[in-house]
Amino acid sequence: MQSLTNRSQSVSNKKMSFAERIYLPAVFGGMWITLKHFFKKKNTVSYPEETRPMSAIYRGQHVLKRDEQGRERCTACGLCAVSCPAEAITMIASERTKGEENLYREEKYASTYEINMLRCIFCGLCEEACPKEAIFLTDRIVDANFGRDEFIFGKDKLVEPVDQRVDVSKRQIWDYQNK
Ligand code: SF4
Ligand code: SF4
Repeated sequence: MQSLTNRSQSVSNKKMSFAERIYLPAVFGGMWITLKHFFKKKNTVSYPEETRPMSAIYRGQHVLKRDEQGRERCTACGLCAVSCPAEAITMIASERTKGEENLYREEKYASTYEINMLRCIFCGLCEEACPKEAIFLTDRIVDANFGRDEFIFGKDKLVEPVDQRVDVSKRQIWDYQNK
C-alpha cells in the first residue's frame, strides 16, 4: 500500500540480542554522553549577574523618546498600534493645551500609552511604522514578574526620563549590509 507521507518507516520484528534485552550497554552509552558534557565549555551564564553580549539592534523593551528639548515626541497618531500584529499597543490621544508646549512636541499627544508585554512579540514593526521617531526597541530585557498586570507597561515605564536618556543611535544608523 502506498504510504501517505515520506516519513513512514517499516517496523522491524528482529529479535533483541541479549545485550539489548538487559539495556545496560544503552544505559552506559547514555551516561558516557552525559559525562562528556561535564568537561565541555558551559553555555549557561548566571543571569542577571552575568549577561551575554547583545546585538546593537537587539529588540527588547521599548522606549518612548523625547526630543532635544525634553518634549515627548509621540503624537498619538496610532500607526504603531495599527501595525502591531499582536495588538499589544493601546493609547488615548489628547490635545495639548496652552502652556504644555514644553511637555509635548506636537499639538496632539498620548495621554495614555500602554504596551502589553505579554502580547508583544518584539517584532519591531511599531518602531518602523512610527513617523515621529518616537518609539524604539532597546537592548533592555523586560523584567520577569509574577502578576500579569505588571506586564502592562504604561508611560511611566516607557517614556525615557529627561535626565536618563536611552541611547538608540545605533539602531538609527545600523547598516544591515555591512554589519
Ligand atoms: S514590537 Fe511588534 S508586537 Fe511588540 S508592540 Fe511593537 S509591533 Fe507590537
Ligand atoms: S509612537 Fe509613533 S506611531 Fe505610535 S502613536 Fe506615537 S507617533 Fe504615532
